[in-house]
Order: sequence, then structure tokens, then C-alpha cells
Amino acid sequence: MGERASSLLSLPETEAIGRPVADVIQAEDLDGAIFGEVDSALRATIDGGATWTSPLSGIAAKGGDHQMFLSINIRPLRRGALVLVADAGPVREILDAHDALVSVTSHELKTPLTAIKATAELLVSYNIEAPERQHMMGDIYKQAERLELLIREILDTSQLDSGRVTLDPAPVDLKETVAEVLDELQSQTTEADLLVKIPALFPMVWADRPKLRQILVNLITNAIKYSPQHTSVVLTATVQDQKVRVAVKDRGIGIKSEDQSRLFKKFQRIPDPATRNTSGTGLGLYIVRGLVELHGGSIDVVSTYGKGSTFAFTLPLAKAALGAGA
Ligand code: ADP
Repeated sequence: MGERASSLLSLPETEAIGRPVADVIQAEDLDGAIFGEVDSALRATIDGGATWTSPLSGIAAKGGDHQMFLSINIRPLRRGALVLVADAGPVREILDAHDALVSVTSHELKTPLTAIKATAELLVSYNIEAPERQHMMGDIYKQAERLELLIREILDTSQLDSGRVTLDPAPVDLKETVAEVLDELQSQTTEADLLVKIPALFPMVWADRPKLRQILVNLITNAIKYSPQHTSVVLTATVQDQKVRVAVKDRGIGIKSEDQSRLFKKFQRIPDPATRNTSGTGLGLYIVRGLVELHGGSIDVVSTYGKGSTFAFTLPLAKAALGAGA
């Protein structure tokens, strides 16, 4: 047994020699019973020269006291067999992300599409009078926007993952950008009391303006979406340690501390009775984190369940960035 295999299985080489493979690689089925699949595959290879490969998702195994997934490949040698053991964790992550992508997108695609189709069908089949007709066309528009957002989020995620997002940074007036964003969110902001606290004569930040807008739209939309109607959302900006810190504070449903760290990962939505009816992919904060980090900043959340949350991110000062580049 090689050194790598020994560390993967948390078992010293000396303890592995001479023991059945199923003991060394403690492969388990779902009920935790050790199954002899690997052992019998090894026997078949030794006796009959067959090659054996574990399923792509790996085989559940014990490494010390934790569970892991191993990819196992058994090949015949002239005498005996060679067992190649690798960590299947990264492959599983891809498969899990793929499963989540399929289930989230099929649900998030189907819901608005069904609504669009049904409403359009009514409009085509019946002679619907003006006010109702207008209302229904408004619904179609909203659902189409939801579809557009979903597609944009999936594309953004795939571009971030493959490192294809590039920044075009320049000195940006934060106050002006926030005002533009609030304009863009006009229909939603009527649902909340939005306060902006940015000091007069605030220094320029170093940012890609459209991407900064995207970060702000996302955090403000979430603050409104995860709060009861007509509560206050406060956006503040301060200069701290040669960086600008932008915070979006809401008095919404809040997030339990055990859920806070996974929010910035892909497809993470926190089940909460209050949000059962909100739609979303769980990609927004993943994209926000990616964009903030591309700017050289960081993002964090401080939240009290039932009271509200503050999402804050940092951006470089234009002065500092230009100084460093000069
Ligand atoms: P989405 O809103 O599409 O679900 P996000 O990535 O933007 O995806 O957010 C992930 C999850 O984090 C949300 O589903 C929600 O559970 C939680 N969340 C985000 N922002 C807030 C907030 N301001 N207050 C409470 N929960 C939030």
C-alpha cells in the first residue's frame, strides 16, 4: 500500500498488509454494513484477470472516524492485482452541483413558464376586457423577468466558475451608483422604507460600475425579499482601513448562526416558514461574493434570527488602487 493510500485511509501501511481488502477499505452500503464488493472484485481480478472500476460517484468508505467517498480501480498484474484508490470527493461535488442545478433550474423554469403559458392561453382564447387584460399582461411580464433572471444567474455562475469574468474597473461615485440602483428597483423599493446614509464628499471607489450595480441590486433585493412589507432597509457606506465598507441592513427574518456560513455557497437557500413562498435559486449571494472578491474585497453577514441581517462588503478606494498602479 502506497503512502498516499495509507493517508487517505488513515491506516498505517504495516496494518494493512495481509488483511482482506474489505477490511482495509471499509466500504459500506447505505445501512452501514461492510459489503464485499471490493473484495470480490479483487478476487475476480486475481482469478480471472478482470478489471474493475467503482461507480463515478465513488464508494462510501471509512477514513478513520469520518466518512468519505473513494474511487477504486482494480487492474490485474502478472501476479496479484493493483488497487488504485483515489478521493472521489471532487467528482461527487461536481455531481451534487449538477443534481442541484437540474432540480433548481427545472423548478425555477417550470413555475414561471407554466404561469406564462396559462395566462397567455386565457388571453388568446377569451375576449378579456381592458383592466383585467392589462393585469394579466403585467403578470406575463413579471414571470418573463423571473425567467430572465434565472438564466442570467446560471450564466454568471458558470462564467465565475470558469474564471471568465473580467473587471473593467475605474473610479466610481458610489452615491450616484446607489441612486441609479434605487431607480432601477423602483417597483420593489415601494415595499420598503429605503434609507441611504453616505456622507457628503465620499471618496471614489475602484470598481467595475455594472458589476457594482449588480452587487447592490442583489443585496437590496434580498433585504426587501426576506423582510416583512414596509420595514426599513438602511444602506450605509464608511471608509475603514483604506477601504470602503458598504452595509445593507434589514429588519427582516434573519438567519440562524449555523446557517450563515453556507449562504455564500452555490444553490443554498435556507428553509424558513416565512420564505416558503419566495422564489429563488440560491445563486445570488454566490455571485455577489464572486464579484466582490474579484474587486479584491470581502463580504460578510451579521444576523440575528427573527430580528434582521446586515450584509457588508468592502471595495478598494480609487485613490489607493491608482496609487498602487502608478
Ligand atoms: P435566493 O434569494 O435566490 O434564494 P441568494 O443566494 O440571494 O438566493 O440567497 C440565499 C439564501 O440566503 C436565501 O434563499 C435566503 O434563505 C438567505 N438570505 C439571503 N439574504 C437574506 C436576508 N437579507 N435576510 C434573510 N435571509 C437571507
